[in-house]
Amino acid sequence: MKLLALLLVLPAANIVDDPPMRGYTPASAKIEREWEAKFRAIPEPSRMREAMRRLSARPHHLGSPYGKDNAEWIRAQFASYGFDARIERFDVLFPTPKVRVVELVAPTRFVAKLEEPALKEDPTSNQKSEQLPTYNAYSADGDITAPLVYVNYGVPADYEQLERRGISVKGAIVIARYGGSWRGIKPKVAYEHGAVGALIYSDPKDDGFAEGEAYPAGPYRPKDGVQRGSVLDMPTYPGDPLTPGVGSSPGAKRLDRKDAVTIMKIPVLPISYADAQPLLAALSGPVAPSSWRGGLPITYRIGPGAARVHLKLEFDWKQTPLYNVIATLKGATNPDEWVMRGNHHDGWVNGAEDPISGLIAELEEARALGELVKQGWKPKRTIVYAAWDGEEPSLLGSTEWVEEHMTELRAKGVFYLNSDGNGRGVLNVSGSHSLERFVTEVANDVQDPEARVTVAQRLRAARVVSGAAEARSRSDLRIDAMGSGSDFTPFLQHAGVPTLDASFGGEDGGGIYHSIYDSFYWYTHFSDTSFVYGRALSQVAGTMIMRVASADVLPAEFGNLAETSRRYLTELAALRESTAKEIDELNKQIADGAFAMVNDPRNPLRAPKAQAPAPHINFAPIENASDSLDRAAARFEKAYGALAGSAASSAALAQVNALLRQADQALLIPEGLPKRPWYQHALYAPGFYTGYGVKTMPGVREAIEQKDWVLAEEQVGKLAAALSREGALVSRAAVLLEQATNVRPVP
Ligand SMILES: [Zn+2]
Repeated sequence: MKLLALLLVLPAANIVDDPPMRGYTPASAKIEREWEAKFRAIPEPSRMREAMRRLSARPHHLGSPYGKDNAEWIRAQFASYGFDARIERFDVLFPTPKVRVVELVAPTRFVAKLEEPALKEDPTSNQKSEQLPTYNAYSADGDITAPLVYVNYGVPADYEQLERRGISVKGAIVIARYGGSWRGIKPKVAYEHGAVGALIYSDPKDDGFAEGEAYPAGPYRPKDGVQRGSVLDMPTYPGDPLTPGVGSSPGAKRLDRKDAVTIMKIPVLPISYADAQPLLAALSGPVAPSSWRGGLPITYRIGPGAARVHLKLEFDWKQTPLYNVIATLKGATNPDEWVMRGNHHDGWVNGAEDPISGLIAELEEARALGELVKQGWKPKRTIVYAAWDGEEPSLLGSTEWVEEHMTELRAKGVFYLNSDGNGRGVLNVSGSHSLERFVTEVANDVQDPEARVTVAQRLRAARVVSGAAEARSRSDLRIDAMGSGSDFTPFLQHAGVPTLDASFGGEDGGGIYHSIYDSFYWYTHFSDTSFVYGRALSQVAGTMIMRVASADVLPAEFGNLAETSRRYLTELAALRESTAKEIDELNKQIADGAFAMVNDPRNPLRAPKAQAPAPHINFAPIENASDSLDRAAARFEKAYGALAGSAASSAALAQVNALLRQADQALLIPEGLPKRPWYQHALYAPGFYTGYGVKTMPGVREAIEQKDWVLAEEQVGKLAAALSREGALVSRAAVLLEQATNVRPVP
């Protein structure tokens, strides 16, 4: 009846124009829409520019004086917006370099510079006394002299190539180029193959002049630029290596450093292409296959040969205080439900792009939310804004916080939204597929700052152009699955909080990642120079936070999740088929004597060994669980459709919401993934051998990739159980929603 009255009062056009808002009745949607419109008018690009200038003025890595200064400044900003803001400290193991030596000792001598020179154009590039040297955090100490071998990207497939050529890296120092995997995979795989040290360099073909003009003339990596970065084995577990699974508060029990499995076992150092070129040029042995050749003006050879390298690294393995900033806006009616937003504040050096470009959007959101509170806005749920420290070394601040607050977070966590830098172009969102429709609706409500269309329309157009025809017809925008590489990992993959990550990008090429050249000068010349995409990120992220914070029913939708699961299952079946075919073909070639010549001792190539044929895998348990999830999703949607015209009580809806916020927890495998119990999500994990890149349905997928058929069957069972739990949860939510809205259940 209330709705009818509303219809009579309002001009009809308003009702027709307003698209549905997931989680809201028409009446509450109208109020929400007004507040959101006010919110989106507040963030200012000029304030973002000034905040970036301030936060990136000096190096602000974990443990640095300016990092602490930034944390205190950020805390004060949140407090001035009306948030209850404090600093939460942890103590973590954070090694920094004392000694770094790389030299070619034979056949000629060359000493690597290992320095990034200051540029007169870039005013923050000369702060040498405060800059962390170029290094890989959590490398081992070491002092070794060994032959050098070029291993391309240093991923498992590259070692298969080497093996076929009869080249071993046992006792060698490998040199790998950045790319093809997350950096930490390279020394891990090198160590597994017997290497005693590793160098990782930025090849100009992947990251440098082959892409465009080098900095400062253009945005790309200059010859002495180096990519710092962590090589902690984060696909096993991120966070403090000494306190897996628990918060590293001052009194926490710590492992002995030698027992911390995530610390790299061999010394590893990143170098520039200026330093790499003489080393690569000194290699003899076979010429590298064409796909292995980079952009340097040399003949790329694999080695080994006369080239010998001395690598000496020593680190200061110290406990370092870490400062997370946690700012809270208490919910008016549901204070014990947390809607969370985060971006890290530490950088490797000045970090204007990574992470400050994301953090300044977050700060403007918080300021705007504070303004709304002054105008009388009262979010139902508690809003928590976080600025994490120590993300760069290994997601330290967010992981330790999640581990410390795990019990409370699993009970109260409703949503976590992450960003980690921002550029210009199209909206990129990844995360929980139960939020795909929610993401689409928000993207429909935010204008692209340049294209005079919504960010959703811009994204659709970009996808159609790049060949994704379904972007034209599918009403919801697809979101990507989450691997790792930022602070969303502990929330989604360890705690099971529904999670998204958002940023703009695609039109901002660059080669300053993790170098001293990631600066205010670089960002304001080559990225989102007018900060209008910074404002757009504030608008997208703040709208998401507001919409979840005051929703009548949490905005989950499970049809897309079921459909996405089916797509992953199709991929798994195809992967099993292609793997089986590959094995059969190889075995046939061996049986046909195709490699007979190869085993001639004078031939450097080695014949492959026959493999056991691939058994069939019974995927039926996953299909059955997907079917039940599908049915539950449809039933939930039907009940949800009745919400608009009903007079559901908030107490009844609270019961529905209590289930919906567990939607990702139901998908956790309690004992975790094989070899890495910290990672529990059944659908999303970083690849054990790819790093940041996602492996969906990781337990089954990686077992097939590794041809471990017994493990694959076992993981099918665990995945199916997780999907069944999800189906049961959605079913229960549907029943409660039917009761709340008086929908007659389907017989
Ligand atoms: Zn970052």
